Amino acid sequence: MKLVDQKNVLITGASRGIGRAIAEEFAKNGANVAFTYLSSVEKGQALEKELSSYGTKIKGYQSDASDYKAAEELVNAVVADFGTVDILINNAGVTKDTLLMRMSEEQWDDVLRINLKSVFNLTKAVTKPMMKAKSGSIINITSVVGLMGNAGQANYSASKAGILGFTKSVAKELGSRNIRSNAVAPGFIETEMTGELNEEQLKEWTKSIPLKRAGQGLDIANACLYLASDLSAYVTGQTLVVDGGMLM
Ligand code: NAP
Repeated sequence: MKLVDQKNVLITGASRGIGRAIAEEFAKNGANVAFTYLSSVEKGQALEKELSSYGTKIKGYQSDASDYKAAEELVNAVVADFGTVDILINNAGVTKDTLLMRMSEEQWDDVLRINLKSVFNLTKAVTKPMMKAKSGSIINITSVVGLMGNAGQANYSASKAGILGFTKSVAKELGSRNIRSNAVAPGFIETEMTGELNEEQLKEWTKSIPLKRAGQGLDIANACLYLASDLSAYVTGQTLVVDGGMLM
């Protein structure tokens, strides 16, 4: 069974890491995939080619998720190309880690704009086509750090906690329109983002994970497939923690 057959999904930040894994799994499961990238132009173009082999419609767009107007233009373009947006996955995100004492206003503003405002931008833009279609699934990639906090990540954890409040508010506002809004909170997933950690930090993280391994993009993609598909038709306003048991 293809879980998201014929569905149109828009994924932000899919040129690498978790977003890339999500795009691949959705294409494998029958979805038409619209995805964005920002600086990784070659990787974005290569992904468009690669995913086309699964036989569904695939298109990559260079678009800054943190830019309100660009997000609006992007959704208009996706609707023109694909017809509608059934599933939105707000995945684009960055870290600018440092202790609060050293954190600049710019480091705070950048992370809040790229991680949190982007979720507002894209969600606002897709509500129109989703309301018209009288259905939709919005999935926001947050982090366990948004639930538990983390030294050196005051900006990042605030942005990810903000996503949780936003996710629940949207679930309450749009539930009557058959639009669901859920969050996925990854724990420690092996990507370029976590590649910045040193050996010692890696060991510490792995020690605290009951399943004793880092997660893979596929682990997050599978959670997104569940929340995007009809298997979760009665699930909204929830946070699915995918962390090998780290947070419990
Ligand atoms: P990553 O490997 O650093 O990839 C980040 C992706 O976001 C890239 O495709 C990048 O595109 C895109 N991006 C960044 N800024 C953007 C913008 N303004 N507009 C559009 N796209 C933008 O990160 P990742 O580890 O896959 O993380 C993906 C998401 O999962 C993030 O929200 C992150 O916070 C969350 N997460 C990750 C982990 C983890 O352990 N890795 C844990 C918890 C949560 P370009 O390269 O084209 O610029």
